[in-house]
Amino acid sequence: MRKSIAIDMDEVLADTLKKVILQFNERTGMSIKKEDLLEKKLRTEYPEHVNHLNELLLERSFFRDLEVFPDAIRVVKRLSEHYDVFIATAAMDVPTSFDAKYAWLQEHFPFLDPQHFIFCGYKGIVATDYLIDDNPRQLRAFKGKGIIFDAVHNQSITEFDRVTSWQDVERYFFGDE
Ligand SMILES: [Mg+2]
Repeated sequence: MRKSIAIDMDEVLADTLKKVILQFNERTGMSIKKEDLLEKKLRTEYPEHVNHLNELLLERSFFRDLEVFPDAIRVVKRLSEHYDVFIATAAMDVPTSFDAKYAWLQEHFPFLDPQHFIFCGYKGIVATDYLIDDNPRQLRAFKGKGIIFDAVHNQSITEFDRVTSWQDVERYFFGDE
């Protein structure tokens, strides 16, 4: 039987943080860079600006035009030829994101069956063999093999296998063939 892989969307397939920082800077007049957020989150680092963060995330189109990380499309396509691939996104964090996320997935990953899109909250209920996610909280809840996708906020986490790019995901599942 084919094994199954669940893949998170934000900060794994999509460079969500890049757009968040861009719009956060526009709204606050700040000039934060991704590197400034090592082991940090905007939400906890700048509590006085949380309203800006909430507002920009709640715009219905926010998730529609996020950049796809390099090689993600090619490697997910290759994975889908050998594994049952599911996209598991914690859309409950931003309930207004459903339609934009769905359209984004269909645009960039048209080879995936939309029946394999899981719009969820807690990923402890996802019963795939693997989960690729940047969020250690979700990986700890998951009961299969968790793989952490490198992000500025998760650098100190050492309890999961770590992948730093989609090329690295490809090496992880297929070796250097
Ligand atoms: Mg994520």
